Parts: sequence; C-alpha cells; structure tokens
Amino acid sequence: MSIRTIVWGENIHERTNQVVAEVYPDGMHSTIAEALNQDPAIKATTATLQEPEHGLSVERLAETDVLLWWGHKDHGGVSDEVVERVAKRVWEGMGLIVLHSGHFSKIFKRLMGTPCALKWREAGERERIWVINPRHPIAAGLPDHFELENEEMYGEQFSVPEPLETVFISWFEGGEVFRSGLTYRRGAGNIFYFRPGHETYPTYHNETVQQVLRNAVKWAHNPLGTYAAIHDAPNVPVEKALEPIVERGPRLHQAGEAGYR
Ligand code: ZN
Repeated sequence: MSIRTIVWGENIHERTNQVVAEVYPDGMHSTIAEALNQDPAIKATTATLQEPEHGLSVERLAETDVLLWWGHKDHGGVSDEVVERVAKRVWEGMGLIVLHSGHFSKIFKRLMGTPCALKWREAGERERIWVINPRHPIAAGLPDHFELENEEMYGEQFSVPEPLETVFISWFEGGEVFRSGLTYRRGAGNIFYFRPGHETYPTYHNETVQQVLRNAVKWAHNPLGTYAAIHDAPNVPVEKALEPIVERGPRLHQAGEAGYR
C-alpha cells in the first residue's frame, strides 16, 4: 500500500500576493503534492487552512501516514483543537514534515517545546545546501551539495532542541549558516524539519528539493502503523507483577483506579 500523505498549506499568499500566485498558481500545496505523487510509493492529497477543520478531521488523520506542513502568515488561525489532534497522531506514529516558515507553526512549537526562533533576511540570496549526513535516507540520491539561486536567509541560532540527526546545513550568500534539515522523534512519530521554501521563490519547483521531500516522506513513514497504546497509563495490580511482591506501606490509589492526568 502506498504512503498516505497530506500536504497541508496555509494557502493565503498564493491567493493574495501577485508574485506568489505567479510562482504557484495552484498553491504551494498542490505543487508539492504533485512532486510527491511522481513516486508510486506515495499517495499525496492536500488540505488547507480554509477547509472545515483545516481539512484535518479525526477520520482523515486516522488514515494518514505522513503530514507535510507549510504555514507562514496566519499560524494563529490554526485551531488549537486541530493542533492537539495532529500532535496526538504524531505521538501515535504519523510522520510530520515541517517546511520553511512552519518553524513558527503551533504544531512545531508544541512538539519541540522551545521558541523555534531564528534570524532571517528576505534578499533573494543564494543558498548552498550541504549534505552533511550523506548516507541518511533523506539524502538518498543527492549530490554533496546543491544550490538555490534565490532564497530567504535563515540564520542561527535556531532555538530548537538538539536534533536526533542533522542532514543538511545551509550557507547563505550574506555569510550566515543554518541547520536546514533536522530529524526528531516524538513518541512513535518521525519529524523532519526542512528549511527552504520561501513563497516568493520557485523552490518547490526545484528537482533536488522535490527529491528531498519524497525521500523525507518515505523516511517519516512508520510502517508499523498506529501505536494507540502510547496514551495508556495502566495501574498495574500487585498480583500482576512479573515477580511475586508483597505490598508495603501506605498508598493513595485503590486497586484498579485510574491515575491523575
Ligand atoms: Zn519565508
């Protein structure tokens, strides 16, 4: 079965800014989904902020293996209920790929637990992306570096937790550097943050960027399926202990009682 993937797009600048509309007439989410669907192992659909429940109903998320997230102008417009719903699915094993300005999305900050702030400059400068983890599955088939002629600069310090792995480091024409491909694990879910993708530049039309995204979907996919038991907090009775034990001392909870949450 193919990897059931949703590309979530905020879909604001594509409709309100002429420059962005010309680069992505059908929206960035559609361009990205099309690029993912070039791989027969991936079945990508789209969802946007404007749809009911932002296109991320409980039912739809339950049947999703990997979610990609692009947001920028209206992170605050994403409902907290949907954010918690997505976080729950990540803990249960759904992969999450956060793109570019999604570093400030509610879902990324929720899962990182840190400010996720960075330096930036919108000057269309060259970005040279170095593959510093060349045998990582997300880097499969890539050269040792590649360039995007026009990109927004993101500079360190990027206030995220220390990642599990760093796959890419970017250098910008103005001199700054940035950890632009980072992996995390939250619960049973794989998370990948990928930096490029400012909406006024044709980044998601770039072949190499598209290859990274396809690789990332395959890497983020957890083929073992939903691990719903991650939410369980069972009160294990004394008589069910693996080795015989004798209960000692006072206790707060009755046998079989649920704990506090
Ligand atoms: Zn940007």
